[in-house]
Amino acid sequence: MGFFSYLLDIAFPPRCVVCDDFGSWWCKKCSTKCEFSLKNLCPSCNHANHVEGCNRKSALDGLVAAGFYHDPGLRKVIHSIKYRGGTVIAPVVAEYIRVWRGARLDVWPWAGLPDLAIQPLIGAPKSIRNRGFDQACLLTGIVKERIVPWAHIADILVRKESLTTQAALGHGLMRHANISGVFYVKPGIRIPKNILLVDDVVTTGATMQEAARVLKAAGVEKVFGLALAVGS
Ligand SMILES: [Zn+2]
Ligand SMILES: [Zn+2]
Repeated sequence: MGFFSYLLDIAFPPRCVVCDDFGSWWCKKCSTKCEFSLKNLCPSCNHANHVEGCNRKSALDGLVAAGFYHDPGLRKVIHSIKYRGGTVIAPVVAEYIRVWRGARLDVWPWAGLPDLAIQPLIGAPKSIRNRGFDQACLLTGIVKERIVPWAHIADILVRKESLTTQAALGHGLMRHANISGVFYVKPGIRIPKNILLVDDVVTTGATMQEAARVLKAAGVEKVFGLALAVGS
């Protein structure tokens, strides 16, 4: 621990973002209470077991998530990453990801594929400016460190400024309509064969689907998704 973080710990002693206890930004008691998503998810309906009538075409070739967004603890952690600055919480999230990796029951959907790059599902430029960082980029660093250390981090996706933020629009059709055409791939850049998109939460999956669609149109063969949480 550096001297600066030592001073920070004295000035702002770590308190669990879920239960408020002193000692850690996400205490063992609270993090072990979070239920893991142990199986690969359907990239169309985002469920481990297909929901009835699941036949939507998916631009994603596979999807995994560590936990569930309806879990109040994990939800609080994700909110804290976004709105309180992620750097202090990153180490405890990395530990959560490490334990999840060990507990999973399926092989990774991208197992055995060569030339895999990890690409953060970058947030809206306006929210990145407001917060000063992008939580998807923070998570991408953790995913590289804990899950695919052999993959390289890609920076080929660009997100345009949108008029309305996703949070203001809510879920459903409006959200889907809003996202169309929001991404493009940087011109003149080497396109990796396979890409793993990383985001904090997958709800409808519309944003991830759109990014995958654009990446495939640019020549990426397979696109996978990884989120810290799935659900609504
Ligand atoms: Zn706690
Ligand atoms: Zn399905």
